[in-house]
Amino acid sequence: MTQPRYFALVPAAGVGARMGGAVPKQYGQIAGKSLLQHVMETFAATPEIEHCYVVVSPEDSFIATLPAIPRTTILLCGGATRQVSVTNGLGAMATEVKPDDWVLVHDAARPGLTVELIVRLITAVAADPVGGLLALPVADTLKRSSEQGRALETVPRERLWAAQTPQMFRHAALLDALLKADAVTDEASAFEALGLQPRLVEGSPRNFKVTLPEDMLLAERYLKGSA
Ligand code: C5P
Repeated sequence: MTQPRYFALVPAAGVGARMGGAVPKQYGQIAGKSLLQHVMETFAATPEIEHCYVVVSPEDSFIATLPAIPRTTILLCGGATRQVSVTNGLGAMATEVKPDDWVLVHDAARPGLTVELIVRLITAVAADPVGGLLALPVADTLKRSSEQGRALETVPRERLWAAQTPQMFRHAALLDALLKADAVTDEASAFEALGLQPRLVEGSPRNFKVTLPEDMLLAERYLKGSA
């Protein structure tokens, strides 16, 4: 039996509505490069990753301005939601990837990913029957709000985690789970809906998702090593 291999899949077909910028947020610049380029370079610098696939919208006019990255393929098959973009990407990869190979799905909007975090996830999940994801135990006290923005109740934070990416699952199982799932915002939810329990692996605050304009400054500080 051949050893399973590790592939990266980066959905980068969003418009980044909450950023409100002139370019989609994955093309916003920090430390001299776009968020997407930082992510592609991190996967290319990880020897364990066989190849990286990046999903952009068929109408994307920015991707051609990025330099070519070794062991990286751009797929013009993005869809209306992240789930559709990932599902389309998995379909397009299927000619190169075996059903039992692992796929690490990572948001283009998380430029703080490091080689060390990728290796930590792979090491913790490689022998897992389900798969797993980077996540952070919740530190803040959590409130559920009323429609008027007033605190209705405190939600116990015991055993609560904030999901990050990469999320790592076997290719065939992931495609199957996403095709069966109702609208989900991450891969792990599709497995949870099937009664499976993905492994939670501690991530890092630097791997946060850039969402609002002010997040760019923090991401830049992490990348320059000053945060
Ligand atoms: O919008 P949000 O920050 O949740 O997007 C997470 C990731 O999913 C981003 O990298 C974004 O580009 C990607 N995405 C996508 N296709 C969509 C929507 C989002 O690939 N239709």
